[in-house]
Amino acid sequence: MDGMNNNFVNPQMTGGYNGPGGPTGPVGPTPKQVQDEIKRTRHTWEVPMYIISIVAGMMGVGMALLQFLLDGDMMAGISEILESGSLDIPGPLLFVLLTFGMSMLAIISGVTMIVLTLVYIIIVLYQLYADQMSYSVKVSEKNYPEIYRKAQEFTMLLGMKKQPEIYVQQMNGQLNAYTSWVFGKPYIQLNAEIVDVAYLEHKDLESVYFIMAHEFGHAYLHHVQLKYLFWSFFANFLPVIGPFIILPLLSRAREYSSDRVAQALMPNNNGVEAMLLLIGGRHTYKYLDADDYLERIKNDHNAIEYFARWCTNFLSTHPIMPFRIEALRDVRKRNGRMI
Ligand SMILES: [Zn+2]
Repeated sequence: MDGMNNNFVNPQMTGGYNGPGGPTGPVGPTPKQVQDEIKRTRHTWEVPMYIISIVAGMMGVGMALLQFLLDGDMMAGISEILESGSLDIPGPLLFVLLTFGMSMLAIISGVTMIVLTLVYIIIVLYQLYADQMSYSVKVSEKNYPEIYRKAQEFTMLLGMKKQPEIYVQQMNGQLNAYTSWVFGKPYIQLNAEIVDVAYLEHKDLESVYFIMAHEFGHAYLHHVQLKYLFWSFFANFLPVIGPFIILPLLSRAREYSSDRVAQALMPNNNGVEAMLLLIGGRHTYKYLDADDYLERIKNDHNAIEYFARWCTNFLSTHPIMPFRIEALRDVRKRNGRMI
């Protein structure tokens, strides 16, 4: 077990990481150091892909609108009127009237569509938040106090005005976590299956903290915002390139950036063990050897198999695990591999 751990995670860190001014252990980074490190290590594709996704979203709005206007019976009705010649209006005037009418219809339809989409997204966001209030435990000074204190420390280091609320919910075995947002606050769900590793045989708070730090990264870098959800909703209307190229590329860059935020918050934990937890599960991950894991994946397969895996990564919202682990282990913290 320690073969792997000694290689990548400082075994001294089991007691958690003390922030600046902490009573014991290593002195942590200052907020400025953390925030500078995040700027330096943010994936360079992230912001350009975000801009491209906004452009795609704008084109998607246009396409959705066009589809709405052309799909209905309205166009057929107009051409029927024109062909019948029943309107006693001179041709040029009719053209102006029709152009004006169509423009007004497009504007009204466009505004209605945008408002309805925003309402829909807001309803979905509050539905998700209601799920926390209905089925999760809110992390507090009494419930999961270690996690609460670590969240306070991350908030301070990131200079966030408001501490994200953290919720724990059992998810029938799924090892996962996510960040979302409602008006005025981001919040984080840690699946209980993740939190369990702090209480099971390994007493591994470090991996829980790393996963939470990654989620703080999403909140800190504003990855979950109404405007992002809005544009990505409409980017899906661009056939193929929206849902299968642009949005997954943006998402993968964001995952790498959030991993770097976690590393900046926890400079003595590179996060590889947290990834092994996601791959190997809560009991055996401590016994896995990351070198062998990467070695086997690099050398045991033929070109067709690698191409199949390349496709898996290309279509995925998260970088596949070997790419992600290689990025986490890169001491120079360069861009993770996107394709
Ligand atoms: Zn993530």
